[in-house]
Amino acid sequence: MSKVKVAINGYGTIGKRVADAVQMQKDMEIVGISKTKPNFEAFVALDKGYPVYAPADKLKGMEKGGIQASGTIEDMIQAADIVVDCTPGGLGEENKALYTKAGVKAIWQGGEEHELAGCSFNAVANYEEALGRDFVRVVSCNTTGLCRVIYPLDQEFGIKKVRVTLMRRAADPNDVKKGPINAIVPNPIKLPSHHGPDVKSVIPHINITSTAVVLSTTLMHLHSLNIEMDKQCSADEVADLLDAQSRIRFVGQGITSTAEIMELGKDLGRPRGDMWENCIWDQSITVDEGELYFFQAIHQESDVIPENVDAIRAMMELESNGARSIEKTNKAMGI
Ligand code: NAD
Repeated sequence: MSKVKVAINGYGTIGKRVADAVQMQKDMEIVGISKTKPNFEAFVALDKGYPVYAPADKLKGMEKGGIQASGTIEDMIQAADIVVDCTPGGLGEENKALYTKAGVKAIWQGGEEHELAGCSFNAVANYEEALGRDFVRVVSCNTTGLCRVIYPLDQEFGIKKVRVTLMRRAADPNDVKKGPINAIVPNPIKLPSHHGPDVKSVIPHINITSTAVVLSTTLMHLHSLNIEMDKQCSADEVADLLDAQSRIRFVGQGITSTAEIMELGKDLGRPRGDMWENCIWDQSITVDEGELYFFQAIHQESDVIPENVDAIRAMMELESNGARSIEKTNKAMGI
């Protein structure tokens, strides 16, 4: 069977990781990535064997900078069965007409609105909803992390209400332009934050509300969760359920911070030191007066990567069963 041809439009933090994860799978391959500047990422992409494309008005600049582009973004789209749009949040919308005109399927990321694709995706929660669809949005890193715990808890115990406080990293480690460097910023100040409603774009019946602050850190987000459940359950039962999820990792062994989790990612030999799973401190899992509490850390640069691979598989109908797609993706990536 020939492999599904995947193009990556926007080769930044998320795009370069999706490209490598796609290339690891048996049923899909990268036919091109797009860059707007001839920077180090473009050179690494060429070294990896990914054909590099650019917007028509940037081709000259690419050539000047030493990158021989294979063509325009339109040419790249023509060569693909499906495009994963990883351009900065808000830009993806402008590209919809391009994809529609070329008759290719497209995936957007969490920086875009749900309405752009009409289907917001998390592999464990609603894989089947994306089967055969032309447009899908893979939800943000935080929403992905929330769906991965909320969905199984709701299936097993029924959820009455979720309250979550998200402590967000300010910028990605390579981002030299953003702050804060010495402040905690309630963001947004007007509550609730958009994260709770975004979970409802994947699992509509969940009663959830969220608040969020931005911290001067680049490593990971941290979620403090408080969940009221329909059925009585013990902390051990919750731990057993979460431990059985393939994209959840329990952390302990002296790990007391996000910094040590990122060190673990490097020690494990993960590409770029990535941590694709939700990291839950199993010691924090507590049931008090019938309510569940725990902490989880989310690696914003990488938790959505396996979800993009599963979304491709669903949309291209390479696999009809979500659990089987998750298994294939995990095996190929080493999760
Ligand atoms: P990024 O800025 O790291 O990368 C975006 C890339 O797109 C850059 O290489 C940029 O040069 C390129 N680009 C800009 N304009 C372009 C254009 N017109 N055509 C083609 N390429 C163009 O951004 P990112 O962090 O990878 O975010 C991408 C999407 O993923 C956003 O929707 C974001 O909300 C979402 N997301 C980001 C994170 C994260 O923590 N970084 C996590 C989950 C989801």
